[in-house]
Amino acid sequence: VAIGQEPDNQAFSSLVRLDPSGYIQAGEDCLTGTPGIYTAGDCRTKKVRQLTTAAADGAVAALAACADM
Ligand SMILES: Cc1cc2nc3c(=O)[nH]c(=O)nc-3n(C[C@H](O)[C@H](O)[C@H](O)COP(=O)(O)OP(=O)(O)OC[C@H]3O[C@@H](n4cnc5c(N)ncnc54)[C@H](O)[C@@H]3O)c2cc1C
Repeated sequence: VAIGQEPDNQAFSSLVRLDPSGYIQAGEDCLTGTPGIYTAGDCRTKKVRQLTTAAADGAVAALAACADM
């Protein structure tokens, strides 16, 4: 049984690229490729989906947004 393993990102498909599994495509820099849009946590492409990696993404994405202001 896999609970919480299906991303629900279709609402954003016109704004950012989704991978074949439906995750928002982004690297460890949390950049989506769309100016002004960042992604963090389980919704993005990544290998490890845990509380710690999601929180780290939040910091990375927020600092990237600040740097782009
Ligand atoms: C069954 C299970 C067990 C797990 N056990 C562990 C564990 O033991 N240790 C560990 O480190 N990690 C565990 N994880 C993984 C961990 O829960 C996730 O990696 C982490 O919660 C991801 O954080 P997130 O902020 O990216 O997403 P989430 O925690 O899923 O938060 C997303 C939030 O966005 C809200 N939301 C969704 N859509 C909208 C919308 N349209 N508008 C506004 N809000 C919206 C949701 O309600 C939710 O509150 C587990 C996951 C599952 C499913």
